Amino acid sequence: MSEYDAVIVGAGVIGLSTACHIKQKNPSLRVLVVDKFNAAGQGSTAKSMSAFRCLFSSRVNYLLSDSSVDFYGYVQKELGVDLKLLMVGYLWLLSIDDYGEMTPILRNLEAANNLKYMEYEADELASRLGVIVHLAGDEEAELMSLKDVYKGIFIPKAGIVDADCVVKFYEEEFLKLGGEIRYGVKVEDLIAEPCKPLGILGEPFFWQESRVSGVKTDCGIIKAKKTILAAGAWIPQLLDTVGVECFIKPKKRQVFAVEAEKPLLRRLLFTESFNSVGCMPFTILPKPRVLVRPFPVEEVFWLSYADDFPRAFKLEEDPQPEKNFYQYGIYQVLVKYFPQFKDCRPYSSFAGLYEINTMDGHPVVFEEKDLIVVGGASGSGIMKADAIGRIAAALYNGEDYAFLYGDRKFRVSDLSIKGRRVEPEKLQI
Ligand SMILES: Cc1cc2nc3c(=O)[nH]c(=O)nc-3n(C[C@H](O)[C@H](O)[C@H](O)COP(=O)(O)OP(=O)(O)OC[C@H]3O[C@@H](n4cnc5c(N)ncnc54)[C@H](O)[C@@H]3O)c2cc1C
Repeated sequence: MSEYDAVIVGAGVIGLSTACHIKQKNPSLRVLVVDKFNAAGQGSTAKSMSAFRCLFSSRVNYLLSDSSVDFYGYVQKELGVDLKLLMVGYLWLLSIDDYGEMTPILRNLEAANNLKYMEYEADELASRLGVIVHLAGDEEAELMSLKDVYKGIFIPKAGIVDADCVVKFYEEEFLKLGGEIRYGVKVEDLIAEPCKPLGILGEPFFWQESRVSGVKTDCGIIKAKKTILAAGAWIPQLLDTVGVECFIKPKKRQVFAVEAEKPLLRRLLFTESFNSVGCMPFTILPKPRVLVRPFPVEEVFWLSYADDFPRAFKLEEDPQPEKNFYQYGIYQVLVKYFPQFKDCRPYSSFAGLYEINTMDGHPVVFEEKDLIVVGGASGSGIMKADAIGRIAAALYNGEDYAFLYGDRKFRVSDLSIKGRRVEPEKLQI
């Protein structure tokens, strides 16, 4: 059994981007990706709403997302690979308090990164989208503490993409470069071994210097010079067994699909004048921030809400959507702002896991004892995957800096645990 240069656990968008960038930098190395599922991107990546925005309060999150989105644009436009990327934009409907919190973030981004955005008055939004902006006198809305829409902020550099197409792109590129992938292989454990084995039963002992030398799977042992854990929400499950902390916790997220069948809903979905696609933007309601994701090609809406307290951190193999979460949660808030959804029930729904970094809502990329951990994108891994993959590849090569798409220099240790240098993210949704 020969040793690989790198074995990557997880063929989600982060694992495959990492694999691809490692192989691009090191064409002659033997790199293997394994995943317990039978195809690429079947974990959280398949459960994503696949939206992207170049709007984050932190410098690092902004950079990760902005450079990845530029790269996806390049892949679609210049390489001719259809990622089904549509620049529909993001529209934040803001209460007066939300607006107060958002304004300094926008001003900062405008000054530092030349961010383009537009402000809309509430009445204009009402006439364009048919959104109810004044809830005064609505007892139910009051009971739910829903706020009037004060203004809207539209971000043009934002939109939707097909996560499956992104994953397939990285998978194909990796295979073209000579990388290997084995699906249907479940990693059961990380293998810890002494750096200089003595052949004594029970090694490694605490007095020996030790390292992770590969993985034990349900199909046998795979040895590697470096093991890369890109197993999304499942990272802590494997990492806990060797006592390494990554600050990643899983939390269920749910999405409900509603058809734009009724004329009023069709009109809403195909609202013109915000973008060249001719559909409504990805829309975020005032706090508690119910999300409305347009899916113009399928003529449906995806509806979601990222609930925090008291939703448990819980690892589930097959998380299921909860009917009441739509009926008594999302629906009740949604119809107050968009009565077009009255009496609409979802025709399908799905749930997945956010891999939340509980420290600061940013990804982690760090190495310990020949084990590289890459993940914790905290619900925005599709829109940051290219940058995260480049940073992980730079770490693999022992480089201090990664160059993100567009030649943007990024200090690798900024995403580590020990040398971490990020500000807490205020716009996590
Ligand atoms: C409902 C929902 C909506 C979202 N919306 C967005 C969005 O709009 N935009 C955005 O950017 N992000 C969004 N996200 C987040 C995004 O989906 C994730 O950040 C991203 O998919 C994480 O990718 P990953 O490769 O780290 O994890 P995953 O895609 O989960 O990949 C991890 C892989 O590791 C494999 N694995 C795990 N354990 C083992 C093991 N023991 N052995 C072998 N293989 C193993 C799994 O099978 C899986 O394929 C959303 C997530 C959810 C759940």
